[in-house]
Amino acid sequence: MPKCETCGNDYDKCFEVVLGGEGHSFDSFECAIQALAPRCAHCGCRIIGHGIESEGQYYCCAHCAHETGVPAARDRV
Ligand SMILES: [Zn+2]
Ligand SMILES: [Zn+2]
Repeated sequence: MPKCETCGNDYDKCFEVVLGGEGHSFDSFECAIQALAPRCAHCGCRIIGHGIESEGQYYCCAHCAHETGVPAARDRV
């Protein structure tokens, strides 16, 4: 069985996440988020929802994008 990439747990219900054509195995969503979720370029928190992408940077919310100088960013509805 594949092991969790984040914590090394050898769990029989590991699942695979394919990102950019590469497979990653995890035992939990928490570990998957830890390994794969982008970080907000302003506050550094993990982006679990849709977030905002601007010029190759990710932001957790429009506020953070504005603070970093992306005035056109809006929360997606
Ligand atoms: Zn894990
Ligand atoms: Zn943020």
